[in-house]
Amino acid sequence: MTILKAKVLGFCGGVRRAVQMIETELAERGPLHTLGAIVHNAHVVDALAAKGARMATDLDEVPEHGTVAITAHGAGEDVFAEIERRGLRLVDTTCPIVRRAQETAAHLVEEGFSVVLYGEAEHPEVRGILSWTRGQGMATQSPDVEIPIGERGIALIAQTTKNPTRFAEFAQTIVRRFVGTAPEVRIIDTTCPETGRRYQAAKELADAVDALIVVGSRTSANTRKLAETCRETGIPTHHIESADEIDDRWLEETSRFGVTAGASTPDDVINAVVRRLVDAGAAERNRG
Ligand code: SF4
Repeated sequence: MTILKAKVLGFCGGVRRAVQMIETELAERGPLHTLGAIVHNAHVVDALAAKGARMATDLDEVPEHGTVAITAHGAGEDVFAEIERRGLRLVDTTCPIVRRAQETAAHLVEEGFSVVLYGEAEHPEVRGILSWTRGQGMATQSPDVEIPIGERGIALIAQTTKNPTRFAEFAQTIVRRFVGTAPEVRIIDTTCPETGRRYQAAKELADAVDALIVVGSRTSANTRKLAETCRETGIPTHHIESADEIDDRWLEETSRFGVTAGASTPDDVINAVVRRLVDAGAAERNRG
């Protein structure tokens, strides 16, 4: 059995930075609350919980004078204001790329644009970015919905984990729809290059293997998109959360596996998957 790993896989810079910031805070100042899951991965959340990082869904769950960490997905302007009002200690792990998308949204609204964010309306990152538009933004994945036109026109930005090609197609449709109606349609690609690099590496990997294994949480938007990209190559693709989910039948059917992983998947989970495949290959050789 041959096992190849994608050239780029697993933790992105933003998630690695967020986890390190939380670990440093835990080591230096003790327990804290994270506002939401620090990353969409149960292994990481459980490991940090064991060191004292509890997850809160609301600021009411954070004790007086406590510490609260904003996740790499960022948060809305109102959340930062409320943390300050309550006098809580803040550990802001917002990924710099998400922060840039928030600032871009805020500047576009200041310039007079209505902001259309290409993304999943319920995703925490999307809700956070929209809050910086102060009511002048909306999130959609369909170019056919009703879109208000700002004084300066419409500005298009994207959820950072979106596929840049899909965003470009979405933008083209909006431009065609509003040409001659809106004063301007401005397009600012706020997708994250880290995500694109994983897609590209997965596509290259698909050329060299018979089946792909995508490792990462099913609640992680970027891992789901990565699995979708892998399926689009036409190569059989299995999305798993951990090594336990590897099905023995796949091992019988395939001799060349490619392994990739979403930006929220830690190294130890990826390594466990590779180890399981290596062991299966060794067992196969022994049988032969
Ligand atoms: S995927 Fe990109 S935007 Fe999201 S946390 Fe990682 S580096 Fe930041």
